[in-house]
Amino acid sequence: MNSKRNKAYLLGITLSILALTGCQSIKTVAFKTPVDTTTKAIHSQEKQTFNLKNDGVFVSNTFDAARLNGLEKINDSTAVVIINPENSPINNSAYYAFKTWSSSPKSFYFKFQYPEGYLHRYIPKLKINNQWSIIDSNHVYKTERSVTIKLNLTKSPIIVAAQEIQSSTDVKLWYTNLASANANYVSLKNVGKTTLGRNIPVLDIHKGDSKTKDVIVLITRQHPPEVTGYFAFQKFLETLLNNSDLSSRFLKQYHVIAFPIMNPDGVDLGHWRHNAGGVDTNRDWSLYKQPEVKQAVKYITKTLKKNDAKLILGLDFHSTYEDVFYTNKIRKETTLPDFITDWFKALEANIPNYKVNEKAANSTKPVSKGWFLYGHNSVGITYEIGDKTPKEDIKLIGRVSAEQMMQILLKNKH
Ligand SMILES: [Zn+2]
Repeated sequence: MNSKRNKAYLLGITLSILALTGCQSIKTVAFKTPVDTTTKAIHSQEKQTFNLKNDGVFVSNTFDAARLNGLEKINDSTAVVIINPENSPINNSAYYAFKTWSSSPKSFYFKFQYPEGYLHRYIPKLKINNQWSIIDSNHVYKTERSVTIKLNLTKSPIIVAAQEIQSSTDVKLWYTNLASANANYVSLKNVGKTTLGRNIPVLDIHKGDSKTKDVIVLITRQHPPEVTGYFAFQKFLETLLNNSDLSSRFLKQYHVIAFPIMNPDGVDLGHWRHNAGGVDTNRDWSLYKQPEVKQAVKYITKTLKKNDAKLILGLDFHSTYEDVFYTNKIRKETTLPDFITDWFKALEANIPNYKVNEKAANSTKPVSKGWFLYGHNSVGITYEIGDKTPKEDIKLIGRVSAEQMMQILLKNKH
């Protein structure tokens, strides 16, 4: 090897080392109101089956996504279910989930008890004979301070939960089927692992070459109990992958990166809001101190760089008290200045009797919506479904919002 070639060879090595270390560091994003997302302790719930001996009643939290911290008998037909969050302070997403049965048929009453300052939020959903339903309102007794429910117990267990259970195993079954049914253009990967070693999955979707294709990012389940938002995410993604002419044209032009469960530890531990690090991951989109956000951001960044592509739109699916789209006020300067106006107009035109509920404010705390804007100059939207929105309505909103997004983005290409 002559010295000239030698130098070029060394330069090549130096450049690839730089490129490698460059990949390791991901750009942080500054926010007006920083939030400390350093790992905090969580209280783990003891997994057990309570046996009210003289009554032949059993209550258990021995399944994924259960939340039941204690049980206290009041009399032979009533018990208190004690529900605590993983740590505090925490939002009032008072999630609960337990299983109950009896040795012989009987009516039994359960009174919910939360720590001081937290209130009953979710109407109980019941899983009986593998079928979910909302509890009969005649079996719910409310006072100003407490909620009690009546159940007709038998030997066959009933699951009582704040929302339908969608554990990491349930979610995996769904996205695995979806990915394999569309395997020629969906690749299913894991971006990394959570604190407790669960996979953080991603569906990477495009038809043909991904080079320079604009990217849309979809996220859900940062907050474990927000299952209605997850249902909208499911319908949204299923619509993008329904092999219609619209879907096919769209996926030839755009690249979708979808995270179907961002906080699997929190989901399976039955958390109210946080991950196994005791942190709200939707406050970590600045310095990425938690593994979930860090690895998702790393994957997005790497993909954009590799494809020389732009992130143009990010939708983060959640649930709250009502259907609402949280948007940023900054629009003109973004990659899609008219998208929000066009999209909301199209939703109202295509969903009967539907009125978009938009709340616009620029994110000051490190939430994903702000990360899309400040980190990528793109449109970020927190897509919220109401806790009580009926499933049929969620499916309709999920489908139409996906169809109209595709239509608008395709129009932009002309
Ligand atoms: Zn949320």
